Amino acid sequence: MNILVINCGSSSLKYQLIDSTSEAVLAKGLCERIGIDGSVLTHTPAGKDKVKIETPMPNHTVAVKLVIDALTDANHGVIKSLDEISAVGHRVVHGGEKFATSVVIDDAVMKAIEECNDLAPLHNPANLIGINSCKEIMPNVPMVAVFDTAFHQTMPEKAYLYGLPYEYYEKYKVRRYGFHGTSHDYVSAKAAELLGKTREDLKIIVCHLGNGGSISAVDHGKCVDTSMGLTPLEGLIMGTRSGDIDPAICDFICQKEGLTPAEMNNVLNKKSGVLGLSKVSSDFRDIEAAANEGNKLARVTLDAFYYRVAKYVGAYTAAMNGVDVIAFTAGVGENNISGRVEICKYFGYLGTEIDEEKNNIRGEERIISKDGSKVTLMCIPTNEELAIARQTLALVK
Ligand code: AMP
Repeated sequence: MNILVINCGSSSLKYQLIDSTSEAVLAKGLCERIGIDGSVLTHTPAGKDKVKIETPMPNHTVAVKLVIDALTDANHGVIKSLDEISAVGHRVVHGGEKFATSVVIDDAVMKAIEECNDLAPLHNPANLIGINSCKEIMPNVPMVAVFDTAFHQTMPEKAYLYGLPYEYYEKYKVRRYGFHGTSHDYVSAKAAELLGKTREDLKIIVCHLGNGGSISAVDHGKCVDTSMGLTPLEGLIMGTRSGDIDPAICDFICQKEGLTPAEMNNVLNKKSGVLGLSKVSSDFRDIEAAANEGNKLARVTLDAFYYRVAKYVGAYTAAMNGVDVIAFTAGVGENNISGRVEICKYFGYLGTEIDEEKNNIRGEERIISKDGSKVTLMCIPTNEELAIARQTLALVK
């Protein structure tokens, strides 16, 4: 069976066609600038060169149609017809408290996702557009929603409630939800597999460090805490997001700079993080290069980022009363060799030590701590698309 995995943004649509038997990616691609001038589809069939198709995409339905055309094209296609797509798995960012697992999409599910729009106004409406467009083009193909928040729904109240008037939770469901759940789920399961154990026997901390970053505590297979909150703004210092700050800073800056709350929100989401702090870039490679050339602000930005990661690992070690595995994943976690070394310098008290030789890898699944280490350190490339395909298959089989 072939599963089409769709990750739809407001003006973009990423896809992968995965053969569920071999778990091979048959083709992948990206539609960009949907609804604006200069729309382009970049399609990469496995083992072949990228194809760039520049053609107007006034809406997502046109984009989905072009994706299907590319997948079935005589030259760069990988299947003969639409009939070879057995199901579609959609990444949906926010499932609120309504979804603790993935679900087959029907009208009631669509309505429930829409009811979560308030909680993720930039993401959920775009996800719904993607689902509707796929339904239009593939009316008879089953669709599954896989939520970024679902894996974290096992968090206990003490972890997900904020110290705010309880009525905001009652009225508006203001609480911690967490994101990157598909990745935390996939990586924690992989970590156990790498140790030859089941996740139910382990206390695992997953550090998903990408442009967006979050950490989760997975205690005997269940997420008990995670660093992102009501929105993906909380927690680590990220590419452009501030992560944790004193909430009073917002009003202070609004008054000093004459900003509206919406403008402040934009600063916190788009102009802060390592970009705002370093004044260099949101990309960790650029900041590392600048730091290596003697840029002091770039150096302190990296230090602040590593320090925040280490603090969360400490907090989650306490939350679980111990830790067996600390796993690094996503762009920075998988590729930043010196970053992992810097972060792990804080973990001596846990009786673990990074093995610099084993750690000298990018994007590879490997144990990177010294033999006999009390806590095992790992690098595990995440694969959210494969996780979505697996969950989709499990539900439609
Ligand atoms: P992601 O959001 O998971 O795609 O991660 C993107 C981030 O990973 C970017 O900030 C990149 O700079 C970072 N990244 C990718 N490769 C490396 C690398 N070799 N060293 C440091 N950071 C990297």
